[in-house]
Amino acid sequence: MTISGGCQCGSVRYELSAAPERVSICHCRDCQKSAGAPMVAWAMAAKESFRVTAGAAREVNSSGDSFRYFCGQCGTGLYYINETHLPGIVDVQLMTLDAPEAFTPGAQVQTAEQAPWMAHLSGIPAFKRYPGMD
Ligand SMILES: [Zn+2]
Ligand SMILES: [Zn+2]
Repeated sequence: MTISGGCQCGSVRYELSAAPERVSICHCRDCQKSAGAPMVAWAMAAKESFRVTAGAAREVNSSGDSFRYFCGQCGTGLYYINETHLPGIVDVQLMTLDAPEAFTPGAQVQTAEQAPWMAHLSGIPAFKRYPGMD
């Protein structure tokens, strides 16, 4: 099994040789800030199953022993490594997979920092495209 993914501009490409061990959604403040988004979905994979196949991601030390990797061309956040808290693991940003719909998150973590309105999304109007363009 090969699972592929990459950044939005295509400069950085990666592959996983095995399915992610776990998929979860993180609501922590670091994820919010680095993604500029309310949450990030992560696919946790064994480090030996992961390899970058094109380009090279840039590294940023986001806090403590946390390293986030992103495309230096287009800014897409790609993966995360923390050898202290997650030894042997690469956390891949789920939505950068070529077929992210193949995996479903099984848990939400760090909900202590979640945006207060996140729990109520199903209660606000939703449009397939934009209002009036459905
Ligand atoms: Zn890119
Ligand atoms: Zn997080």
